[in-house]
Amino acid sequence: MTEQETEERKVALVVVAHPDDAEFMAAGTIATWVADGWTVHYLICTDGASGGPDDAEDVSPEARRAVTTTRKLEQRAACDVLGVEDIVFLDYRDGELQSTLDLRRDIVRVLRRYRPTRVICESPDRTWTPGYVIGAFHPDHLAAGQATIAAVYPASQNPWDFPELLQEGLLPHKVREVYFSGAPTANVAVDISSMFERKLAALRAHTSQLAAHFDEIEALIRRRTAEVGKKHDMAFAEEFHRAENR
Ligand SMILES: [Zn+2]
Repeated sequence: MTEQETEERKVALVVVAHPDDAEFMAAGTIATWVADGWTVHYLICTDGASGGPDDAEDVSPEARRAVTTTRKLEQRAACDVLGVEDIVFLDYRDGELQSTLDLRRDIVRVLRRYRPTRVICESPDRTWTPGYVIGAFHPDHLAAGQATIAAVYPASQNPWDFPELLQEGLLPHKVREVYFSGAPTANVAVDISSMFERKLAALRAHTSQLAAHFDEIEALIRRRTAEVGKKHDMAFAEEFHRAENR
């Protein structure tokens, strides 16, 4: 494949820590890209097993496995709403994600397999202005963001990084654009006005996480995306820090 062809491929990869992260961050953007002919895949770093009920008494390995099974099915349902194709689960333990070399290698493997032009990921940094919001930054999200940006550059595009991947037939791949969600500064907004209902429908698919208080979630999503939209003359928008890899 030539450099030119690589650049024009309408393939995007969304890398997040947990099932449901991508829908909160970017469901409207993902649906918009799919409508524009993009093929979108997900890479989810953890097994989602710490997302069981807050009043749970049974937190045994069996109970964790049951949570994982439910959340994967819900993630598939959300992806079907958005038109997302494949979901790769790395199954790192939920709540304990670290930006390790193993995680970086696992992300590089998926980048080289799917060869996306665009990547959406979580911010590796906390935001301190106008004030730090406890609950806004899960440590798994920061670790996933950190590992993703390290995987994008230089490891994915450098044959000398993780040479064992060459043995697997996975050739270097250069990602062109990264969209960070939740970054300290945003520099691009995506108009999701026509996809707003679809974003809600995708979130609603995460029944075990959100059904009990979906009215509050919907009000929050409506308020936040409208606030972002207002800055850009749009009804509803999702914003990102977009970086190009020249
Ligand atoms: Zn999360």
